[in-house]
Amino acid sequence: MDNYDVVIVGAGFTGLTAAYVLAKQGKKVKVIEADSTPGGLAGTFEFADGVKLEKFYHHWFNNDVYVPELVKELGMEGDIILLPTRTGMYFNGRMWKLSTPLDLLRFKALSLIDRIRLGLLVFQVRRIKDWKTIEHLSIREWLEPLCGKAVYKIVWEPLIESKFSIYSETVNAVWMWKKLVLRGSTRNDKGGEELAYFKGGFGRLAETLVEAIRINGGEVSLGHRVTGVNTNTSGDAIISILTDKGGIEGDKYLFTPSFPIIADILKDSTDPKWIASLRRVKYLGNMCLVLRLKHSLSGTYWLNVNDPGFPFVGVIEHTNFDSPDNYKGTHIAYLSRYLAVEDPVWLYSDDEYFDFAMRHLKRMFPKIDGSWIVEYKVWRSEYAQPVTERDYSSYIPERDTPFKNAFISTMAQIYPEDRGTNYAIREGRRIAKNILERQAK
Ligand SMILES: Cc1cc2nc3c(=O)[nH]c(=O)nc-3n(C[C@H](O)[C@H](O)[C@H](O)COP(=O)(O)OP(=O)(O)OC[C@H]3O[C@@H](n4cnc5c(N)ncnc54)[C@H](O)[C@@H]3O)c2cc1C
Repeated sequence: MDNYDVVIVGAGFTGLTAAYVLAKQGKKVKVIEADSTPGGLAGTFEFADGVKLEKFYHHWFNNDVYVPELVKELGMEGDIILLPTRTGMYFNGRMWKLSTPLDLLRFKALSLIDRIRLGLLVFQVRRIKDWKTIEHLSIREWLEPLCGKAVYKIVWEPLIESKFSIYSETVNAVWMWKKLVLRGSTRNDKGGEELAYFKGGFGRLAETLVEAIRINGGEVSLGHRVTGVNTNTSGDAIISILTDKGGIEGDKYLFTPSFPIIADILKDSTDPKWIASLRRVKYLGNMCLVLRLKHSLSGTYWLNVNDPGFPFVGVIEHTNFDSPDNYKGTHIAYLSRYLAVEDPVWLYSDDEYFDFAMRHLKRMFPKIDGSWIVEYKVWRSEYAQPVTERDYSSYIPERDTPFKNAFISTMAQIYPEDRGTNYAIREGRRIAKNILERQAK
């Protein structure tokens, strides 16, 4: 068996960034990834004609710093594209533009006073400096008194419900606070929003990272699943990890998948109480339909649908962000649903999910029919969104584990920010630094 300085489980952005930093420091690293492509949740797939695209829609915000910094370090600065976005809301059977403050003033679904309250919300939100003071509150308990019942009901409630499904009343207010603070600062001087994308998609960036790891002497093994670990006799150190292709020995180990997956890998090898603390964190799954269309649905990139009963997070027309020319002239739309795996929709076949989505889409875009569809694909992730319940900071598992040579860095530890590739890169760097410091001791 080869012996590595660090064995990393997962080739999402956290695992890849950690491996890249460690390999550059001369460490012998090996990344083991179950999937056949790198990038994890931000990975891509190919349509039948080779056109590549994210399985789940992705963009960066123009105030994200860790992604551009990494892209620059990889010498690919020129491949970041900053694009103005068009966001909107579908409510009461019609579409409302909501990209600029002027759009907000024209949003007649709310009374004038409520429009002003909505506009002023960002300033009220910015006044909160210590998020711990609102961590015991639900989003509704915190936001409703600030913006009023009507604004909450029309604007925020449908968004929270489509994002957090059965957990919408238990997620703590910090999630919303951080989103509002961050989104409030992505506006340009005209009040419009710009978002960033990587030419060729996030999968291409992940492939570039894999290349950089290999150039620096590291290894990335795809289509290779970790199933368990072997420990020393006292049980306080891992001596090898078990995979579907045999054992791999390392000096240190880093686990980056979601907590329930890590718990499954380690459950027979350590303290059941610690395993239970990993399982304490709840997640929502995501089912995402990627539609490739002959025609565009609308002029909006991100359309929040606030009419009751719409079962998706929104209609995300990717080609109103990145040009259709990059997709052979076709139009791409995502229909994504966050859901608990107990939701009956989770068991829908791809065709059933497609029919379900088309029924709802037709209500908004009556002209769409089967002749518009070039191709479609459905993607599922069981652990797509960690649920940060009240007082989340009191029960997030640490990066250290009961094993002195194993660490965890996973998206549910990103807090008070929400998970995202920008923070995955930050955390990948952070844990790599931590591992290097421990090795130096
Ligand atoms: C619907 C959706 C939309 C999103 N939109 C955005 C966006 O617009 N912008 C943004 O920045 N972020 C977005 N995100 C979040 C972003 O994708 C994640 O935060 C980020 O990719 C997480 O990276 P990670 O490396 O921490 O985890 P992951 O990407 O989950 O990586 C973990 C890796 O571990 C692998 N793995 C699991 N089990 C095993 C095993 N037993 N053996 C070996 N490998 C294993 C997995 O296959 C995976 O590749 C979105 C996520 C979703 C679900």
